Amino acid sequence: HNHIDHATVEKVEAAIKGGDTHAHLPEYEGFEAYRGDGGYQTLETLRGGGKSPDELQEEVLQSGLRGMGGAGFPSGRKWSFVRMNEGPRYLAVNGDEGEPGTFKDRYFLEREPHVFLEGMLIAAWAVEAETCFIYMRDEYPAVLEILRREIAALEAAGLVAAGYIDLRRGAGAYICGEESAMIESIEGKRGMPRHRPPFVASVGVFNRPTLVHNVETLYWIAKVARSGPEIFGDHGVNGRKGMRSYSVSGRVRNPGVKIAPAGTTIRSLIDDYCGGMLLGHTFKAYQPGGPSSGLLPASLDDIPLDFDTLQEHGTFIGSAAVVVLSDQDSARGAALNMLKFFEDESCGQCTPCRVGCEKAVKLMQKDQWDQGLLEELSVAMVDASICGLGQAAPNPIRSVMKHFPDEV
Ligand code: SF4
Repeated sequence: HNHIDHATVEKVEAAIKGGDTHAHLPEYEGFEAYRGDGGYQTLETLRGGGKSPDELQEEVLQSGLRGMGGAGFPSGRKWSFVRMNEGPRYLAVNGDEGEPGTFKDRYFLEREPHVFLEGMLIAAWAVEAETCFIYMRDEYPAVLEILRREIAALEAAGLVAAGYIDLRRGAGAYICGEESAMIESIEGKRGMPRHRPPFVASVGVFNRPTLVHNVETLYWIAKVARSGPEIFGDHGVNGRKGMRSYSVSGRVRNPGVKIAPAGTTIRSLIDDYCGGMLLGHTFKAYQPGGPSSGLLPASLDDIPLDFDTLQEHGTFIGSAAVVVLSDQDSARGAALNMLKFFEDESCGQCTPCRVGCEKAVKLMQKDQWDQGLLEELSVAMVDASICGLGQAAPNPIRSVMKHFPDEV
């Protein structure tokens, strides 16, 4: 019964060798096309002394660009923290994109990989990074193949030294998207989040000061460096500044990555960007930023979706993984699903998260939720977990108790 067909064997062998050579590659902008369109001129100008790192850092600050992986830390300030520490320094790219519902990094990499690569090399120039590690999700075989090819093209063109960009494959653990766990994984260890301080800006990869950026952040850094802070900063609606790439899925007609001004509301995302709800479905609830953000009811459809704007509702935008639920979905069922995910993905390092997720799942499977006990458990998890996974895991529970009490 354990017959493994030839194709599977080939795939496994290819994976061991370091690549799924059969990955179907989408149409994307290759090195020649990008170069022909003025690509890498910004990098060369900077390397040639056209601007100082301080000047570029100022422009990045002015643009208002913040970490698109979800934490939203101002990118320019991150540079200054890393640069404060004595070299040698490293740059590490977080391409793990494991947040359920997020697929924006893939979107950029499968279309314009060189915008990202140039952004990475510009950031590396700014902090004088000795090596760039790219930690890429292995579930994106096409992206890995594209990066392999295009990094080789960069080396052949003499834009980077051989080996300067070190492409690493993740192994499917959600927790490795947490920056310190990612760093542990890059170092060859089991991916478990570190205690902070020290922060990775001073003690990162192999204990060296490390600049960690998300893929999309670097994409925008390339744009800002090439065209100025306005290209990012001059957008925004409802009092917000910048652009956001919302990964929208669920009960909408046209799901996908929607690049929209920061502060766009869910109502506008559904109606103006996604062609409305699927036929026969009524908007009921939405997940604003990955499962850790829990659920909001359709009645709160006018909140500008951006960093900081969701705080008063006990949640956050994170990596902008928006999932739209309809009257045919159960909020309680969605929350249980989220907690099961956290139970699976908890790295197990600390008790409140490891035991707490498991306990929460059991309690949520009962016909009627013991809300007092679930709240008590939530407090313990939020207060005592080491990293964001355990700290945010209770959000789906709390949001359902608050907004959908009838279901529990
Ligand atoms: Fe690991 Fe969870 Fe603790 Fe984070 S909170 S360190 S995922 S056990």
